[in-house]
Amino acid sequence: MQKRRTKILATLGPATDDPAVLEGIVKAGVDVVRLNFSHGKQEDHAKRAEQVREIARSQKRPVGVLADLQGPKIRIECFKDGPVELEEGQTFALDAGLATDAGTIEHVGIAYKELPDDTSPKDILLLDDGRIVFEVERVEGQKIICKVIMGGQLSDRKGINRQGGGLSASALTDKDRSDIKAAASFQADYLALSFPRSAADVNEARELFRQAGGKGAIVSKIERAEALDALEEIIAASDAVMIARGDLGVEVGDAVLPAIQKEIITMARTMNRVVITATQMMESMITNQIPTRAEVFDVANAVFDGTDAVMLSAETAAGKYPVKAIEAMDRICREAEKQKVTTLSDHRINTRFEKVDEAIAMASMYTANHLGVKAIAALTESGSTPLWMSRISSSIPIYALTSHVETRRKVTLYRGVYPINFEKPNTDHVQVNIEALKVLKERGAVEDGDLVLLTKGDLMGKMGGTNVMKVIQVGDDIYNQN
Ligand code: PGA
Ligand code: MN
Repeated sequence: MQKRRTKILATLGPATDDPAVLEGIVKAGVDVVRLNFSHGKQEDHAKRAEQVREIARSQKRPVGVLADLQGPKIRIECFKDGPVELEEGQTFALDAGLATDAGTIEHVGIAYKELPDDTSPKDILLLDDGRIVFEVERVEGQKIICKVIMGGQLSDRKGINRQGGGLSASALTDKDRSDIKAAASFQADYLALSFPRSAADVNEARELFRQAGGKGAIVSKIERAEALDALEEIIAASDAVMIARGDLGVEVGDAVLPAIQKEIITMARTMNRVVITATQMMESMITNQIPTRAEVFDVANAVFDGTDAVMLSAETAAGKYPVKAIEAMDRICREAEKQKVTTLSDHRINTRFEKVDEAIAMASMYTANHLGVKAIAALTESGSTPLWMSRISSSIPIYALTSHVETRRKVTLYRGVYPINFEKPNTDHVQVNIEALKVLKERGAVEDGDLVLLTKGDLMGKMGGTNVMKVIQVGDDIYNQN
């Protein structure tokens, strides 16, 4: 069976805590797991990271770990006697001065004390991902007095967004700063930053992560209206971006999301960055065993758009069928990947390359796609060469051969890239070629007669040193010629 190129990112939670379920989702093909710091304790996340890596080791397939910070999500506090039913037309107050557990049908507390200063009459506030809508009538001291435009049930700690964005909360809270240290302590392969507004937000998170000893890559979640105005600088400052369609859709309106998704995916790929498409992809599978037709189309369309990864949130973290949700994504991605749009490319066709290794990566993909090689073997230290290669649409698997465990776990997110643990036998090029072909053959990736495209550096072991591309035939002693 053809390998799936699009990667599956699944959020862990109570529904995956049963070791049998966790093993089930890894077996079903999860590439990266998400630890959502909006819920649960640091110890729980550290334990989940450890558990999943142990299962990954026993199944001999690296699984990446992504730690997702809560960020400055603005939330209401709690209700005295459980959820309330808000009626359209009634008055309701958000009150920064109210005790955290004193909510009633008339008012509720808010954790973000600056909210009254950030709002003014006529603002539209969206609660619980837009299920409840308020219009601000007036602000009196710490109280925001609103009229309910769309009513419904409102329960503890639901999120608040303002239509059009513009709330002042900075990207990193004290909790995030502490969670960054936790993520560094278990060596998260990816650190996801919620609600960044600028490159400066991203740089600050990266710096804190590095100071804490974290080596992983930084994912910026695009989920604020302001982030769209600074899209290019945010992508440039990040290793990867997530199209966080939940919060983003609340701020900018659901109807513009499909166009934004295509724009972000194209921009990220062109800038040699990785991109994740997230939220509500298989929402109905929280309770159902099969996806809706619309969900099937959503996953397939994200693949056609060129996303590296598709993400599951509550479907796996708290749903009834975590394994089935992954199986459904897996079969939809595989089928979508058979279509021509996913294998042709005009990536950076009109740009000049500044680095030798990037030029080699690009030349390799042109050759591989047009010559028809069976596999690409990129001998890599940092994973840059397979990253560049995977920006080009192709149907040929890219194997990242590396001795670094961090690199193997990082490339789990890259479309069409598969990590292999590879220790070079010595610095002799012929020996290295022979050994590389041997590991590919052992995995069933190639057989005698197949062509393999191999890249490496003359000075093996040096980062950024890739300067050679070779096409060699398995089983032929052509590869004995250095
Ligand atoms: P969340 O982010 O699941 O952490 O809210 C994703 C989104 O907003 O879509
Ligand atoms: Mn979000």
